[in-house]
Amino acid sequence: MGRPRVVVTDHVYPSVEVEEEILKSVGFDFKVYQCRGEDEVIEACRGADGILTTFAPITRRVIQALDKARVIVRHGVGYDNIDVSAASEKGIMVVNIPEFGGSEVAYHTLALITSLLRRIPQYDRLVKSGGWRSWAAYRPLPPLYRLTLGVVGFGRIGRQVALKAMKGFDMRVVAYDPYVAREEFERLGVTPVTLENLLRISDIVSLHTPLTDETRHLIDGEKLRLMKPSAILVNTSRGPVVDQKALVEALRRGWISGAALDVLALEPPEGDDPLLGMENVILTPHVAWFSEESFIDLLRKAASEVVRALKEEEPLHIVNRSELEERGFLKTQKRS
Ligand code: NAD
Repeated sequence: MGRPRVVVTDHVYPSVEVEEEILKSVGFDFKVYQCRGEDEVIEACRGADGILTTFAPITRRVIQALDKARVIVRHGVGYDNIDVSAASEKGIMVVNIPEFGGSEVAYHTLALITSLLRRIPQYDRLVKSGGWRSWAAYRPLPPLYRLTLGVVGFGRIGRQVALKAMKGFDMRVVAYDPYVAREEFERLGVTPVTLENLLRISDIVSLHTPLTDETRHLIDGEKLRLMKPSAILVNTSRGPVVDQKALVEALRRGWISGAALDVLALEPPEGDDPLLGMENVILTPHVAWFSEESFIDLLRKAASEVVRALKEEEPLHIVNRSELEERGFLKTQKRS
């Protein structure tokens, strides 16, 4: 039996030296690729025992072609690029890294909210183009403390955004999450509401759900029509949670007043994406999680999960644990 082989299918980090160091120190073979399509992933993962992935498509077809893999670790929280059912059928563990970068995402969300509402990009362009005195041409700005923030998805990040908005900006916060008990919202001083009510009463709608079959296009044309014309939409979760065509229409027709998006339906966007030319839209390149420390933390945690899995220990965050247990691939183990 040779050395365990670990493949990075793709990454977006300045370097993956941290992972390389950890995996080589335990005697694993380590190979880095930047695969884009399924065929490239299939080729790269031939003979791999462990797979580390960021955005590469780990589809059913890719998983069916895997000949040795025992674990697929997603660099990050969301694992919507991986066909988890297909992995469970083959007894392959899918692991994510939920505890990293959460506070960065919350700060980034608030930075997007304040930039959009305080018109930082427009004022910046104005000053740099010699328009110091033209600011009064803009509609007056809303005072932040009078606004209601609507958080959709009250998990790790949604809660941090809510708390920071209440403590830091005195905002009123309402939230929608069908999987969280009423007492949990109330304990944190947040009012639970239905999605429809949230959209009707919020000045800022901020999305923090995972991307699932249920949340794909959760915010469609019909939902956007419920929002106030003065309201803004902020998305730091996953692009397809919003129907982007409907969003463009909503912005063009003035159903809402602006959007700030860290994530898009297609990343990177096509050059002719209408969002790129819109004055009332702020875009950042899926960097809400990023900080000097968070990417090192992420790579360290991801590499440690691969080591655990390939050394027959249990990884800390197995996404498909119950499916693997049901199929008899995973015995419940006690962690030391
Ligand atoms: P989490 O699992 O802690 O929270 C998600 C919450 O969404 C849960 O409370 C869940 O009950 C809720 N939810 C699920 N389905 C829902 C539905 N249909 N309607 C309303 N709520 C629903 O996840 P998290 O760590 O808070 O991450 C939130 C999102 O942020 C994910 O999409 C993740 O991929 C994304 N993310 C983005 C970045 C970035 O850089 N932009 C970084 C990290 C995470």
